[in-house]
Amino acid sequence: MTSHHILVVEDEREIRELLHYSIGRSGYTVSVVPDAESALDQLKSETPDLVIIDWMLPHMSGIELARRIRHDQYTKDIPLIMLTARGEEVDKLKSFDAGVDDYITKPFSPRELNARIKALLRRAGDAEGSQLSVDGLKLDTVAHSVCVNGDYVHLRPTEYRLLELLLRHPKRAFQRSQLLDLVWGRSVYVDERTVDVHVLRLRKALQKYEMDSLVQTVRGVGYRLNPAFASA
Ligand code: CA
Repeated sequence: MTSHHILVVEDEREIRELLHYSIGRSGYTVSVVPDAESALDQLKSETPDLVIIDWMLPHMSGIELARRIRHDQYTKDIPLIMLTARGEEVDKLKSFDAGVDDYITKPFSPRELNARIKALLRRAGDAEGSQLSVDGLKLDTVAHSVCVNGDYVHLRPTEYRLLELLLRHPKRAFQRSQLLDLVWGRSVYVDERTVDVHVLRLRKALQKYEMDSLVQTVRGVGYRLNPAFASA
């Protein structure tokens, strides 16, 4: 079971530390960056489940960062919370206009922030359907868990994302380069053979439940989900 990953973009060190501490205490995996440029950089290699953005950032503003996240096909669906000292209605409207899902005014209570994070993650999970299943295997996108006939299957984050993607498109064969784009982000540092390594790990984890043939090799292409394997 993996926890949700939350990215925090805040330039003030004390607030950044407070956020890191209070969100981390709620059981989420937190990464913090001090500016929009570092956030965009990090988003190239990983996709968090939610991003908290401070409005007033050096160089590029939080609003501009929110817009860029919304305009990128790889990040457009990530829930966004804007954090700011501005409480004017016109400013709130401006941030909703940039695609922000929720808005919190400083000073904020960590409990309120955590409640909003939870609500937003739940909403995001509901929107995409929280349960993906095939045969006896169930993946819960809200709990980030995978079960086979009620038994938890322990997967590392990359294997989990790989399985989630395949389950979302059960009939589609993915090329290795597509899997790299969709699971790893667009990191150019990752070799296509990395996909094979992780597919192998995923199959190993599923082997215990005799479900390793769920991930089928498509010769000359890459991989696809093979839901029919049980009856084959
Ligand atoms: Ca700031």
